[in-house]
Amino acid sequence: MKIPLVDLKANYLSIKEEIDLAVAETLDSCQFIGGDAVRNFESEFAEYVGAENCVSCANGTDALELSLQALGVDSGDEVIVPAISWIATSECVTSVNATPVFVDVDPDTLTICPNAVADAVTEKTKAIIPVHLYGCPAPMQRLREIASQHSLLIIEDCAQAHGARFGDQNIGTFGDASTFSFFPGKNLGAFGDAGAVFAKDPQVARRVRMIANHGQTKKNDHRMEGRNSRMDALHAAVLSVKLKHLPRWTAVRIELAKRYQKKLESLPLRLPIVPADCQHVFHLYVVRTNDRDQLQSHLESRGVSVGIHYPKPLPLLDCYCTDDTKKKYPNAARACEQILSIPIYPELTEPQQDYIVRCIADFFG
Ligand SMILES: *Cc1c(COP(=O)(O)O)cnc(C)c1O
Repeated sequence: MKIPLVDLKANYLSIKEEIDLAVAETLDSCQFIGGDAVRNFESEFAEYVGAENCVSCANGTDALELSLQALGVDSGDEVIVPAISWIATSECVTSVNATPVFVDVDPDTLTICPNAVADAVTEKTKAIIPVHLYGCPAPMQRLREIASQHSLLIIEDCAQAHGARFGDQNIGTFGDASTFSFFPGKNLGAFGDAGAVFAKDPQVARRVRMIANHGQTKKNDHRMEGRNSRMDALHAAVLSVKLKHLPRWTAVRIELAKRYQKKLESLPLRLPIVPADCQHVFHLYVVRTNDRDQLQSHLESRGVSVGIHYPKPLPLLDCYCTDDTKKKYPNAARACEQILSIPIYPELTEPQQDYIVRCIADFFG
């Protein structure tokens, strides 16, 4: 049996008629950038997240960079980021001429460790970027306490966590800004690159929109220089269709995670933890074992695609690495040698999942 890590084709085919109609309507309108489709998606997504001031943009990386810029993060500022994430989380800090300060992750959830954040605060610290890694909410309550104690901004990186909840509040509603990616493989994915920002302060949201559209508020009125980071109407049309299905897809991901938990818990594997009172949306299902490399080849040889998110902690990447970094992030360094993402997506069938479980059980004999 061949099982991909994500199945974008199966996802498309499951809603093909609706998608094709929305795409045809967009082509017919010849409104390709911005316009009604984009405005509609922004308000639908704002309602879904339960936050105001949604501004669409070209991708999740830009969403982070635009947020930092609109919030006034600048050269001389330090921004605290977790040692495990996709590089966009730290790249955006460098892009606005500030300095990323990496901190270790919690050994259980692999999201940013609040104690490590508190220890890393200096006079220059301006912001924290918690990442809801794999769909698991970061510890927002503790982070908010630390942020308010030191007057720091919070920018939530929600790229992997559409629909996740911390307590009775949706992620994306905690930060001064929060950012989403609609990269095709994310829980809500466009047919190309797309992203969005939420800003608590409507002024900040206006600034994001202005920067993302060459500094204009209206045509040819440039109060500042900006850039081009707008959402295409085709993506917005696709996202509006998919958003209607997202609650169901999320429920299936959670159900599949429960089945994995039940069927894998007797094996010598460390399984994902869902923090108390949280809704984890399982963008990825990440197991941990000291035999990771062997388990990876075993599964691949049986046709099961797997992934490693991510092979190295951010501070150990060549672009950041300094000599003593490995010792400074022990939890992240250990985890990156043990983690393996196994298939989880709404179209994964129970027989497919049972096959994956059997292959893993075979490996451990
Ligand atoms: C995907 C991702 C991003 C970047 O999103 P793009 O749309 O690919 O630019 C940022 N942060 C995290 C944690 C991500 O997973």
